[in-house]
Amino acid sequence: MPTETRAKTAEKMKIVTIDGPAASGKTSVSRELARRLGWKWVSTGAFYRGLAYVADRLMCDISNEEALSELARSNKWSVRMDDDNTKVFLGAEDVTEKIFQEHVGSIASKVSHFPKVREALLEPQRACAKNVPGLVAEGRDCGTVVFPDAQVKIYVTASQESRAERRSKDLGLSVAETHAAQVQRDQQDSTRKAAPLSVPPNAFVIDNTDLSLDQAVSIIEAHVKKNL
Ligand code: C5P
Repeated sequence: MPTETRAKTAEKMKIVTIDGPAASGKTSVSRELARRLGWKWVSTGAFYRGLAYVADRLMCDISNEEALSELARSNKWSVRMDDDNTKVFLGAEDVTEKIFQEHVGSIASKVSHFPKVREALLEPQRACAKNVPGLVAEGRDCGTVVFPDAQVKIYVTASQESRAERRSKDLGLSVAETHAAQVQRDQQDSTRKAAPLSVPPNAFVIDNTDLSLDQAVSIIEAHVKKNL
């Protein structure tokens, strides 16, 4: 698509992207930002976690790129936006709760390095921006690949320690266990060839280590309103 047309489409669509590493707080921040703006919110991680969970349940070989990308395109499972959570369904069964287990995150990080899998999940992620007042899209490559023409791009970071602490509280695991899984996932996500985690050009970078949710969202909201 010519750059001009792409720019126009994004202008019409009103998109803010929020990328960052695991447990940086981007989910809470992006959900609350969408709420304040009266927009929709999507966690693109739910697509990768959903595929990982479904592949595991259906015993699909997670080292087989072809089989995974076929499963990614199949209608055996689906992802739906919701104000509180991006929901995943296996057939009619709501499996949203299950995709947040740390082992599903680890499988997600493995399946997400396959270019064909990423390609298969692009279209449904982009479809989230259709027919909505505006979209806050959160993930690893939202500002670089999924919505490269988004009006505002944010990158949320936080110290390793505070991220491990946050995630361990969410999952009820020890900080040490969470820290180890997180280091491995960060390493996989930022060194893969296809759409690695990176700060999008012109992104507004915010360090969430010592900020409350309200503080972080207020800073981002002010930046968004100034730049829309
Ligand atoms: O954001 P969340 O931790 O739920 O993402 C789970 C995994 O999905 C990440 O570790 C990453 O491997 C993958 N992911 C991705 N691209 C995105 C969002 C998530 O590769 N845009």
